[in-house]
Amino acid sequence: MKNIYVTSPLLPPLEEFVPYLEQIWQNKYLTNAGPFHAQLEQALAEYLGVKHLSLFSNGTMALLTAFQTLRLKGEVITTPYSFVATSHSLLWNGLTPVFADIDPHTFNMDPASIEALITENTSAIMPVHCYGIPCDVDKIQRIADTYGLKVIYDAAHAFGVKQNGSSILNCGDLSILSFHATKVFNTIEGGAIICPDARTKQRIDYLKNFGFADETTVIAPGINAKMNEVQAAFGLLQLQHIDGALAARRTIYERYCTHLNNITGITFYSETAHFEWNHAYYPVLLDDAYPLSRDALYEALKEENIYSRRYFYPLISSFSMYRHLPSARPEHLPVANQLAERILCLPIYPDLGEEEQMRIIDVIRRYAAKTDSPTADARHVA
Ligand SMILES: *Cc1c(COP(=O)(O)O)cnc(C)c1O
Repeated sequence: MKNIYVTSPLLPPLEEFVPYLEQIWQNKYLTNAGPFHAQLEQALAEYLGVKHLSLFSNGTMALLTAFQTLRLKGEVITTPYSFVATSHSLLWNGLTPVFADIDPHTFNMDPASIEALITENTSAIMPVHCYGIPCDVDKIQRIADTYGLKVIYDAAHAFGVKQNGSSILNCGDLSILSFHATKVFNTIEGGAIICPDARTKQRIDYLKNFGFADETTVIAPGINAKMNEVQAAFGLLQLQHIDGALAARRTIYERYCTHLNNITGITFYSETAHFEWNHAYYPVLLDDAYPLSRDALYEALKEENIYSRRYFYPLISSFSMYRHLPSARPEHLPVANQLAERILCLPIYPDLGEEEQMRIIDVIRRYAAKTDSPTADARHVA
Protein backbone atom coordinates (compact mmCIF):
# COMPACT_ATOMS: atom_id res chain seq x y z
CA MET A 1 0.00 0.00 0.00
CA LYS A 2 1.37 3.36 -1.05
CA ASN A 3 2.48 5.70 1.73
CA ILE A 4 0.45 8.89 2.03
CA TYR A 5 2.20 11.79 3.71
CA VAL A 6 0.60 14.94 5.06
CA THR A 7 1.96 16.81 2.08
CA SER A 8 3.87 16.23 -1.13
CA PRO A 9 5.71 18.96 -3.00
CA LEU A 10 4.31 20.67 -6.06
CA LEU A 11 6.72 19.51 -8.78
CA PRO A 12 6.25 20.79 -12.34
CA PRO A 13 7.14 18.40 -15.19
CA LEU A 14 10.94 17.94 -15.35
CA GLU A 15 11.16 18.73 -19.07
CA GLU A 16 9.66 22.16 -18.41
CA PHE A 17 12.54 22.95 -16.05
CA VAL A 18 15.32 22.03 -18.48
CA PRO A 19 15.17 25.26 -20.56
CA TYR A 20 15.58 27.32 -17.37
CA LEU A 21 18.66 25.34 -16.41
CA GLU A 22 20.08 25.70 -19.92
CA GLN A 23 19.74 29.46 -19.59
CA ILE A 24 21.58 29.41 -16.24
CA TRP A 25 24.36 27.29 -17.75
CA GLN A 26 24.58 29.67 -20.68
CA ASN A 27 24.80 32.96 -18.81
CA LYS A 28 26.69 31.46 -15.83
CA TYR A 29 24.74 33.63 -13.43
CA LEU A 30 24.21 31.35 -10.43
CA THR A 31 23.30 33.71 -7.58
CA ASN A 32 23.55 37.33 -6.29
CA ALA A 33 20.41 39.00 -7.64
CA GLY A 34 20.54 37.36 -11.08
CA PRO A 35 17.97 37.68 -13.88
CA PHE A 36 15.65 34.90 -12.61
CA HIS A 37 15.77 36.42 -9.12
CA ALA A 38 14.63 39.78 -10.52
CA GLN A 39 11.93 38.14 -12.64
CA LEU A 40 10.57 36.10 -9.74
CA GLU A 41 10.41 39.09 -7.39
CA GLN A 42 8.36 40.98 -9.95
CA ALA A 43 6.17 38.05 -10.94
CA LEU A 44 5.38 37.17 -7.32
CA ALA A 45 4.61 40.76 -6.33
CA GLU A 46 2.17 40.91 -9.25
CA TYR A 47 0.64 37.50 -8.63
CA LEU A 48 0.17 38.08 -4.91
CA GLY A 49 -0.90 41.71 -5.26
CA VAL A 50 1.76 43.21 -2.98
CA LYS A 51 3.92 46.29 -3.42
CA HIS A 52 7.43 45.07 -2.60
CA LEU A 53 8.82 41.61 -2.14
CA SER A 54 12.38 40.49 -1.39
CA LEU A 55 13.34 36.85 -1.97
CA PHE A 56 15.25 34.79 0.61
CA SER A 57 17.10 31.49 0.75
CA ASN A 58 14.45 30.21 3.16
CA GLY A 59 11.60 31.46 5.36
CA THR A 60 13.59 31.32 8.59
CA MET A 61 16.28 33.65 7.19
CA ALA A 62 13.47 35.98 6.12
CA LEU A 63 12.08 35.94 9.68
CA LEU A 64 15.53 36.61 11.16
CA THR A 65 16.10 39.49 8.77
CA ALA A 66 12.67 41.01 9.40
CA PHE A 67 13.59 41.81 13.01
CA GLN A 68 16.94 43.28 11.90
CA THR A 69 15.10 45.39 9.33
CA LEU A 70 12.95 47.07 12.00
CA ARG A 71 15.82 47.24 14.56
CA LEU A 72 13.60 45.79 17.28
CA LYS A 73 14.54 45.28 20.91
CA GLY A 74 12.97 43.82 24.05
CA GLU A 75 9.82 41.70 23.99
CA VAL A 76 7.68 40.50 21.12
CA ILE A 77 4.20 39.11 21.69
CA THR A 78 3.67 35.96 19.64
CA THR A 79 1.76 32.68 19.44
CA PRO A 80 2.86 29.33 20.89
CA TYR A 81 0.70 27.54 18.31
CA SER A 82 3.09 27.54 15.35
CA PHE A 83 6.21 25.98 13.89
CA VAL A 84 9.28 26.48 16.13
CA ALA A 85 10.98 28.84 13.63
CA THR A 86 8.47 31.54 14.63
CA SER A 87 9.86 31.85 18.17
CA HIS A 88 13.41 30.76 17.30
CA SER A 89 13.71 33.85 15.08
CA LEU A 90 13.17 35.97 18.21
CA LEU A 91 15.82 34.18 20.27
CA TRP A 92 18.33 34.49 17.41
CA ASN A 93 17.73 38.26 17.51
CA GLY A 94 18.11 38.53 21.28
CA LEU A 95 14.39 39.25 21.59
CA THR A 96 12.15 37.73 24.26
CA PRO A 97 9.03 35.91 23.13
CA VAL A 98 5.89 36.59 25.14
CA PHE A 99 3.20 34.02 24.40
CA ALA A 100 -0.43 35.03 23.91
CA ASP A 101 -3.28 32.51 23.87
CA ILE A 102 -5.16 31.69 20.67
CA ASP A 103 -8.73 31.84 19.43
CA PRO A 104 -10.37 28.37 19.38
CA HIS A 105 -12.14 29.03 16.07
CA THR A 106 -9.30 30.47 13.97
CA PHE A 107 -6.24 28.88 15.69
CA ASN A 108 -4.71 32.38 15.57
CA MET A 109 -3.53 34.73 18.30
CA ASP A 110 -6.54 36.03 20.23
CA PRO A 111 -6.42 39.85 20.06
CA ALA A 112 -8.19 39.96 23.45
CA SER A 113 -5.19 38.27 25.06
CA ILE A 114 -2.58 40.70 23.67
CA GLU A 115 -3.16 43.89 25.63
CA ALA A 116 -2.57 42.42 29.08
CA LEU A 117 0.88 41.24 27.91
CA ILE A 118 2.13 44.65 26.77
CA THR A 119 4.88 46.16 28.96
CA GLU A 120 7.27 49.07 28.47
CA ASN A 121 9.68 46.56 26.87
CA THR A 122 7.25 45.39 24.20
CA SER A 123 8.37 46.43 20.72
CA ALA A 124 6.27 44.30 18.39
CA ILE A 125 3.57 41.69 17.82
CA MET A 126 4.31 38.63 15.69
CA PRO A 127 1.12 36.74 14.84
CA VAL A 128 0.92 33.75 12.49
CA HIS A 129 -1.83 33.25 9.90
CA CYS A 130 -2.07 29.66 11.06
CA TYR A 131 -3.00 27.15 8.29
CA GLY A 132 -3.43 30.19 6.02
CA ILE A 133 -6.47 31.36 8.00
CA PRO A 134 -6.23 35.16 8.36
CA CYS A 135 -5.63 36.67 11.80
CA ASP A 136 -7.96 39.36 13.07
CA VAL A 137 -5.73 41.92 11.36
CA ASP A 138 -7.90 44.95 12.13
CA LYS A 139 -7.99 44.37 15.88
CA ILE A 140 -4.27 43.57 15.97
CA GLN A 141 -3.45 46.76 14.04
CA ARG A 142 -5.62 48.85 16.38
CA ILE A 143 -3.72 47.52 19.40
CA ALA A 144 -0.37 48.09 17.65
CA ASP A 145 -1.32 51.67 16.77
CA THR A 146 -2.54 52.40 20.29
CA TYR A 147 0.73 51.25 21.89
CA GLY A 148 3.15 52.17 19.08
CA LEU A 149 4.13 48.57 18.29
CA LYS A 150 5.33 47.04 15.02
CA VAL A 151 3.48 44.06 13.54
CA ILE A 152 5.40 41.30 11.75
CA TYR A 153 3.25 38.52 10.35
CA ASP A 154 4.68 35.05 10.03
CA ALA A 155 2.67 34.38 6.87
CA ALA A 156 4.52 31.15 6.01
CA HIS A 157 1.14 29.42 5.42
CA ALA A 158 -0.64 32.31 3.73
CA PHE A 159 0.52 32.26 0.10
CA GLY A 160 -2.32 33.60 -2.06
CA VAL A 161 -4.74 34.25 0.82
CA LYS A 162 -6.94 37.30 0.28
CA GLN A 163 -9.36 39.27 2.38
CA ASN A 164 -11.72 41.90 0.93
CA GLY A 165 -10.04 41.36 -2.43
CA SER A 166 -6.58 42.26 -1.14
CA SER A 167 -3.65 40.06 -0.19
CA ILE A 168 -3.44 39.33 3.54
CA LEU A 169 0.29 39.93 3.07
CA ASN A 170 -0.34 43.67 2.88
CA CYS A 171 -1.20 43.78 6.59
CA GLY A 172 1.19 44.90 9.30
CA ASP A 173 4.69 46.32 8.83
CA LEU A 174 6.21 43.18 7.31
CA SER A 175 5.00 39.72 6.28
CA ILE A 176 7.16 36.65 5.84
CA LEU A 177 6.51 33.80 3.41
CA SER A 178 8.13 30.37 3.32
CA PHE A 179 8.67 28.58 0.00
CA HIS A 180 9.84 25.35 1.59
CA ALA A 181 9.07 22.17 -0.35
CA THR A 182 6.18 21.38 2.02
CA LYS A 183 4.41 24.70 1.45
CA VAL A 184 1.66 25.64 -1.03
CA PHE A 185 4.18 27.36 -3.34
CA ASN A 186 7.79 26.18 -3.17
CA THR A 187 11.25 27.00 -4.50
CA ILE A 188 12.64 23.80 -2.88
CA GLU A 189 13.87 26.00 -0.03
CA GLY A 190 13.00 29.67 -0.09
CA GLY A 191 11.12 32.55 1.39
CA ALA A 192 10.33 36.24 1.12
CA ILE A 193 9.66 39.41 3.06
CA ILE A 194 6.79 41.58 1.89
CA CYS A 195 7.05 45.27 2.75
CA PRO A 196 5.06 48.39 1.87
CA ASP A 197 7.76 50.78 0.58
CA ALA A 198 10.87 50.82 -1.61
CA ARG A 199 13.11 52.19 1.15
CA THR A 200 12.38 49.26 3.44
CA LYS A 201 12.94 46.84 0.56
CA GLN A 202 16.32 48.48 -0.06
CA ARG A 203 17.34 47.89 3.56
CA ILE A 204 16.11 44.27 3.41
CA ASP A 205 18.09 43.69 0.19
CA TYR A 206 21.25 45.05 1.85
CA LEU A 207 20.73 42.95 4.97
CA LYS A 208 20.32 39.68 3.06
CA ASN A 209 23.62 40.36 1.25
CA PHE A 210 25.99 40.89 4.22
CA GLY A 211 24.93 44.56 4.53
CA PHE A 212 26.62 45.62 1.27
CA ALA A 213 25.15 48.81 -0.18
CA ASP A 214 27.84 48.90 -2.90
CA GLU A 215 31.27 47.42 -3.50
CA THR A 216 32.91 49.31 -0.64
CA THR A 217 30.05 50.27 1.67
CA VAL A 218 28.63 48.02 4.40
CA ILE A 219 25.67 49.62 6.19
CA ALA A 220 24.85 46.92 8.78
CA PRO A 221 25.99 43.51 10.01
CA GLY A 222 23.96 41.70 7.37
CA ILE A 223 23.79 38.02 6.65
CA ASN A 224 23.88 35.74 3.62
CA ALA A 225 20.25 34.92 2.93
CA LYS A 226 20.08 35.28 -0.84
CA MET A 227 17.94 33.09 -3.06
CA ASN A 228 19.98 31.51 -5.87
CA GLU A 229 19.10 31.35 -9.57
CA VAL A 230 18.10 27.66 -9.59
CA GLN A 231 15.60 28.32 -6.79
CA ALA A 232 14.29 31.46 -8.53
CA ALA A 233 13.91 29.63 -11.88
CA PHE A 234 12.06 26.81 -10.12
CA GLY A 235 9.75 29.41 -8.59
CA LEU A 236 9.02 31.01 -11.97
CA LEU A 237 8.06 27.64 -13.42
CA GLN A 238 6.06 26.74 -10.33
CA LEU A 239 4.12 29.99 -10.61
CA GLN A 240 2.75 28.79 -13.96
CA HIS A 241 1.19 25.81 -12.17
CA ILE A 242 0.04 27.44 -8.96
CA ASP A 243 -3.57 28.20 -9.97
CA GLY A 244 -4.14 24.56 -10.90
CA ALA A 245 -2.57 23.50 -7.62
CA LEU A 246 -4.81 25.81 -5.60
CA ALA A 247 -7.89 24.55 -7.45
CA ALA A 248 -6.88 20.94 -6.72
CA ARG A 249 -6.46 21.79 -3.03
CA ARG A 250 -9.97 23.24 -2.98
CA THR A 251 -11.43 20.05 -4.49
CA ILE A 252 -9.67 17.92 -1.85
CA TYR A 253 -10.80 20.26 0.91
CA GLU A 254 -14.42 20.01 -0.26
CA ARG A 255 -14.28 16.21 -0.51
CA TYR A 256 -13.07 15.96 3.08
CA CYS A 257 -15.81 18.32 4.24
CA THR A 258 -18.49 16.28 2.45
CA HIS A 259 -17.35 12.95 3.88
CA LEU A 260 -16.35 14.04 7.40
CA ASN A 261 -19.55 15.94 7.94
CA ASN A 262 -21.80 14.48 10.65
CA ILE A 263 -19.14 12.39 12.36
CA THR A 264 -19.70 12.87 16.06
CA GLY A 265 -16.61 14.18 17.80
CA ILE A 266 -14.87 15.47 14.66
CA THR A 267 -14.91 19.12 13.71
CA PHE A 268 -13.09 20.61 10.76
CA TYR A 269 -12.42 24.17 9.77
CA SER A 270 -15.26 25.41 7.56
CA GLU A 271 -14.40 28.14 5.18
CA THR A 272 -16.22 31.38 5.72
CA ALA A 273 -17.16 33.87 3.05
CA HIS A 274 -15.04 36.69 4.41
CA PHE A 275 -11.76 35.56 2.87
CA GLU A 276 -10.20 33.54 0.05
CA TRP A 277 -8.34 30.59 1.51
CA ASN A 278 -5.48 28.58 -0.02
CA HIS A 279 -6.44 25.29 1.72
CA ALA A 280 -2.84 24.92 2.82
CA TYR A 281 -3.78 22.43 5.59
CA TYR A 282 -6.76 20.33 6.59
CA PRO A 283 -6.98 20.64 10.37
CA VAL A 284 -9.52 18.51 12.27
CA LEU A 285 -10.25 18.64 15.99
CA LEU A 286 -11.20 15.49 17.87
CA ASP A 287 -13.23 15.64 21.04
CA ASP A 288 -14.29 12.97 23.53
CA ALA A 289 -17.35 12.01 21.51
CA TYR A 290 -15.11 10.39 18.89
CA PRO A 291 -14.30 6.84 20.04
CA LEU A 292 -10.51 7.24 19.52
CA SER A 293 -8.19 9.77 21.09
CA ARG A 294 -6.27 12.06 18.75
CA ASP A 295 -3.09 10.05 19.26
CA ALA A 296 -4.92 6.76 18.76
CA LEU A 297 -6.34 7.95 15.43
CA TYR A 298 -2.90 9.25 14.44
CA GLU A 299 -1.52 5.72 15.12
CA ALA A 300 -4.45 4.00 13.40
CA LEU A 301 -3.82 6.04 10.27
CA LYS A 302 -0.12 5.25 10.47
CA GLU A 303 -0.90 1.53 10.47
CA GLU A 304 -2.54 2.10 7.11
CA ASN A 305 0.57 3.93 5.87
CA ILE A 306 -1.14 7.30 6.22
CA TYR A 307 1.06 9.89 7.88
CA SER A 308 -1.03 12.70 9.32
CA ARG A 309 0.67 15.36 11.46
CA ARG A 310 -0.13 16.86 14.84
CA TYR A 311 0.44 20.51 13.83
CA PHE A 312 0.97 22.17 16.31
CA TYR A 313 1.85 19.73 19.04
CA PRO A 314 3.92 20.13 21.14
CA LEU A 315 3.38 23.86 21.61
CA ILE A 316 6.47 26.04 21.15
CA SER A 317 6.01 27.22 24.74
CA SER A 318 6.61 23.67 26.00
CA PHE A 319 10.11 23.29 24.50
CA SER A 320 13.03 23.55 26.94
CA MET A 321 14.31 26.89 25.63
CA TYR A 322 10.90 28.54 26.20
CA ARG A 323 9.13 26.83 29.07
CA HIS A 324 10.85 28.88 31.79
CA LEU A 325 9.17 32.05 30.48
CA PRO A 326 6.28 33.26 32.68
CA SER A 327 4.01 33.55 29.61
CA ALA A 328 4.75 29.91 28.66
CA ARG A 329 2.90 28.42 31.64
CA PRO A 330 0.09 26.12 30.47
CA GLU A 331 -2.50 27.79 32.74
CA HIS A 332 -1.71 31.00 30.88
CA LEU A 333 -2.44 29.37 27.49
CA PRO A 334 -5.51 27.20 28.06
CA VAL A 335 -6.89 27.28 24.51
CA ALA A 336 -3.54 26.63 22.82
CA ASN A 337 -2.89 23.72 25.18
CA GLN A 338 -6.31 22.23 24.57
CA LEU A 339 -6.09 22.48 20.78
CA ALA A 340 -2.55 21.06 20.73
CA GLU A 341 -3.97 17.89 22.32
CA ARG A 342 -6.90 17.58 19.89
CA ILE A 343 -5.54 18.67 16.53
CA LEU A 344 -4.74 16.44 13.59
CA CYS A 345 -3.80 17.72 10.13
CA LEU A 346 -4.90 15.35 7.37
CA PRO A 347 -2.99 14.94 4.09
CA ILE A 348 -3.75 17.61 1.54
CA TYR A 349 -1.72 18.34 -1.60
CA PRO A 350 -2.56 18.84 -5.27
CA ASP A 351 -1.90 15.31 -6.52
CA LEU A 352 -3.60 13.47 -3.67
CA GLY A 353 -5.89 11.21 -5.68
CA GLU A 354 -9.54 10.60 -4.89
CA GLU A 355 -8.93 6.92 -4.09
CA GLU A 356 -6.11 7.76 -1.72
CA GLN A 357 -8.21 10.40 -0.05
CA MET A 358 -11.07 7.91 0.40
CA ARG A 359 -8.62 5.53 2.10
CA ILE A 360 -7.97 8.25 4.68
CA ILE A 361 -11.65 9.05 5.11
CA ASP A 362 -12.53 5.35 5.48
CA VAL A 363 -10.14 4.92 8.43
CA ILE A 364 -11.67 7.90 10.21
CA ARG A 365 -15.18 6.58 9.58
CA ARG A 366 -14.32 3.00 10.53
CA TYR A 367 -13.81 4.07 14.13
CA ALA A 368 -16.67 6.57 14.22
CA ALA A 369 -19.71 5.83 16.38
CA LYS A 370 -22.01 3.29 14.65
CA THR A 371 -24.86 5.76 14.33
CA ASP A 372 -22.70 8.13 12.26
CA SER A 373 -22.27 8.48 8.53
CA PRO A 374 -25.23 6.74 6.87
CA THR A 375 -23.65 7.54 3.50
CA ALA A 376 -20.55 5.57 4.44
CA ASP A 377 -22.66 2.52 5.34
CA ALA A 378 -24.55 2.76 2.09
CA ARG A 379 -21.31 2.94 0.16
CA HIS A 380 -19.91 -0.12 1.89
CA VAL A 381 -23.10 -2.13 1.26
CA ALA A 382 -23.00 -1.10 -2.39
C1 LIG B 1 7.63 26.59 7.34
C2 LIG B 1 7.50 27.61 8.40
C3 LIG B 1 8.54 28.47 8.75
C4 LIG B 1 9.95 28.27 8.28
O1 LIG B 1 10.13 28.41 6.95
P1 LIG B 1 11.40 27.69 6.25
O2 LIG B 1 11.28 28.17 4.83
O3 LIG B 1 11.23 26.23 6.38
O4 LIG B 1 12.62 28.21 6.91
C5 LIG B 1 8.28 29.49 9.66
N1 LIG B 1 7.07 29.64 10.23
C6 LIG B 1 6.05 28.82 9.94
C7 LIG B 1 4.74 29.05 10.58
C8 LIG B 1 6.22 27.77 9.03
O5 LIG B 1 5.23 26.91 8.80
